[in-house]
Amino acid sequence: MRHLTADYIFPVSLPPIKNGVVSVNESGQIVAVSEYDLAEHASIEVEYHKGAICPGFVNAHCHLELSHLKGKIPEKTGLPGFLSQVVQLRESDENDILRQIEEQDHLMWSEGIMAVGDISNTNHSFRQKAQSPIHYYTFIEAFDFIPENTEREWNKAIELGRELEDLLPTASYSIVPHAPYSVSEKLFKLIGNTCYEKDGVVSLHNQETPSENEMYLEGKGELLELFKGMGIDYSKWKTTGFNSLPSVAVHLPKCVKILLVHNTCSTKEDIQWAHKYSNMVYWCFCPNANLYIESRLPDIPIFIKENCKCVIGTDSLSSNHQLSILEEMKTITQQFPAIPFTTQLEWATKNGAELLGFQKQLGSIEPGKTPGIVLIEEFDTETLVLTDKSTSRRLD
Ligand SMILES: [Zn+2]
Repeated sequence: MRHLTADYIFPVSLPPIKNGVVSVNESGQIVAVSEYDLAEHASIEVEYHKGAICPGFVNAHCHLELSHLKGKIPEKTGLPGFLSQVVQLRESDENDILRQIEEQDHLMWSEGIMAVGDISNTNHSFRQKAQSPIHYYTFIEAFDFIPENTEREWNKAIELGRELEDLLPTASYSIVPHAPYSVSEKLFKLIGNTCYEKDGVVSLHNQETPSENEMYLEGKGELLELFKGMGIDYSKWKTTGFNSLPSVAVHLPKCVKILLVHNTCSTKEDIQWAHKYSNMVYWCFCPNANLYIESRLPDIPIFIKENCKCVIGTDSLSSNHQLSILEEMKTITQQFPAIPFTTQLEWATKNGAELLGFQKQLGSIEPGKTPGIVLIEEFDTETLVLTDKSTSRRLD
């Protein structure tokens, strides 16, 4: 049994504890978390660490299989330019792809990430997921653009799911739609119904660029032009007169968890609409990827005002410099200094664990759980905020 103390413990399920002590057994299970008690703790060996202790992080949105694209795509091109680059560059030497996946899985683990909601369009990451200590929830992503392709793409996704199950029979996964503009109504309904039957989580890239809403509102814009240029038949495209989110979310069941990723251009009205539609919506922020691609951020304070369940993701290394939840939190702190560390930490741990169904083991330092113990160093213990120099590493 180890007894760990730091300047502050953030159990997440409880308020921060100054000089608290966490006791953890050989299998990583929390035995106790409490204030330092002279009578109880003076006679045992307590390891002191400078900084803050918190539970392991949950990365709610990642594409591990794109790790080989690190540094390959120029920044600030906007989403349409970014997408066309990913399509051109994602093919690569398979050994290199697998090597980068393994390396990034190890890096995520060592910085304190316990669980990842990870998008797969291929089987490249499956072997690593099967042997990793990280809990993965795999989102097998499908897109068909037009209904003529639905059956083929659906069968491809089912086959990928089987491959994952063969390698890892306990794998958590669901088949999910890529984005509003790349999935037909037919495929949306198929995915939604299947998630409903299997109690799966739906993930959807949402309102990442202004031209996504433009497609639905006015039937024009840079994104639509990109797809037409790729030879996709948009002759039957119908504008809805609404933003993209209300235009497509109606095809999804109300009683499945829906993870909306990015939300860069989501408005207060979009949020209010979504909350009326379903009370199982989670909003994921990937600020470093937003800055990389679009050079803009979602209006995060609005989401807090509207009582959103928020989570944090890294997106992929095609649009980020690292897969680090702490770096995402540092960016949120820099851009929105009024958002407290404790609020962000709840997004990065408890909410993510609940979203992915790992809340019994992960997400908070509570007796009986095995959430991972993370130390944040260079943490401002006076004001309880992250600094530019903050780093995180795993203690257990
Ligand atoms: Zn993504």
